[in-house]
Amino acid sequence: MSKIALITGATAGIGLATAMELGKGGYDIIINGIFQDQADEALVTLKEAGINAEYFEADITNEDAVNAMFVAIGAKYDKIDALINCAGGLGGRSRFEDMTTEFYRKVMALNLDSVFFVSRAAIPFLKKGENPSIVNFASIASYNAGGPGAGIYGTSKAGVLTITRALAKDLVEYGIRVNAVSPGTIDTAFHAATNRDIMEGWKNGILMKRFGEASEVASVIEFLVSDKASYLTGEVIQINGGQDFL
Ligand code: NAD
Repeated sequence: MSKIALITGATAGIGLATAMELGKGGYDIIINGIFQDQADEALVTLKEAGINAEYFEADITNEDAVNAMFVAIGAKYDKIDALINCAGGLGGRSRFEDMTTEFYRKVMALNLDSVFFVSRAAIPFLKKGENPSIVNFASIASYNAGGPGAGIYGTSKAGVLTITRALAKDLVEYGIRVNAVSPGTIDTAFHAATNRDIMEGWKNGILMKRFGEASEVASVIEFLVSDKASYLTGEVIQINGGQDFL
């Protein structure tokens, strides 16, 4: 039976690169997202690479939508081997003095509630998986609290570090490993709203003096879900070209 990977937020960026990497490694891929047009393009790209992929739409900040997605997935699949909780984002920038409660809740929901909703619903499927594991997305902002106006993003991603270890403890009895990647600056639409000239300056703070590619995160995820990482759980891997110790 094929291995199955569910990747949230996989219609673009690092999620799509991960779908490509795992798909080439023999996984059948379930991609999740919220934009049908992006999904259509992603499915064409994956199918051209010979990858079996299917799209399930759900806003992962919405508990009911997540549960409905898993009912739909359950009608077609009886197990999941790898869950990649990739969907997330800045959600905008706001300094604390001006921050609305609505903005705070939106960013926490996108990056942290989503990991809870999706992981909880995936557990019955992962229990039936082979070498099952979850990979969450932390960030360099989990540690440095984010750039200007990204304080709640950093806070939500710090929560991802702890929920990763909490899930690892909770799920070890089922043989489910739970790890996280912690990217630095990866060149995706995540940074679409940031001024490109300002971004160029960020390279001075990166040892390798360049941004990462989505595929450079995907290859680490491929390792984390593989048998080669069989003794890794509750771990966080930094992928930042040496950004964190300069
Ligand atoms: P991206 O913006 O290119 O892709 C995000 C994907 O998530 C898109 O496909 C989008 O449609 C989807 N998405 C957004 N909101 C969603 C929702 N509510 N429900 C379902 N899907 C939703 O970003 P990316 O760079 O690929 O980011 C992927 C992950 O990596 C995120 O968790 C992000 O916080 C994290 N990260 C990125 C960077 C970076 O520099 N790019 C750095 C650190 C961490």
